[in-house]
Amino acid sequence: MTPDKAFFCPACSSACLEVGALAQAPARCELCGWEGVREELHVHEFVHESGSSEEMARAFFTDLRAVFGRDVAASMARVLEKWGFLPEPDVQSLARYLVAMVRAATNAVIEERQRQEKARHAS
Ligand SMILES: [Zn+2]
Repeated sequence: MTPDKAFFCPACSSACLEVGALAQAPARCELCGWEGVREELHVHEFVHESGSSEEMARAFFTDLRAVFGRDVAASMARVLEKWGFLPEPDVQSLARYLVAMVRAATNAVIEERQRQEKARHAS
């Protein structure tokens, strides 16, 4: 079992952060621009456990959330604006949409993996 930590922005809950490794290191949210120090961030502690699919799903969610925040947020904001889901720039609403998407994507990937494993066993 490996303990691990995930950090989230105290202003918008995004996992899309630049954080130093040392105590009192500067921290910055790439999504909403919040700036502070490492100790001000919200921390989620979890344990990697090879046997636990729940912990695996949580770690996968955290990883995917960082990717969405870093690589997908800007493109997704344009799509949401185009379709009227974000009538005006609103970082908090965008962050909530992204978390909802990551949650759904996490479940979709795990379900698809189970379908593929079942198909492999059946053949
Ligand atoms: Zn933020």
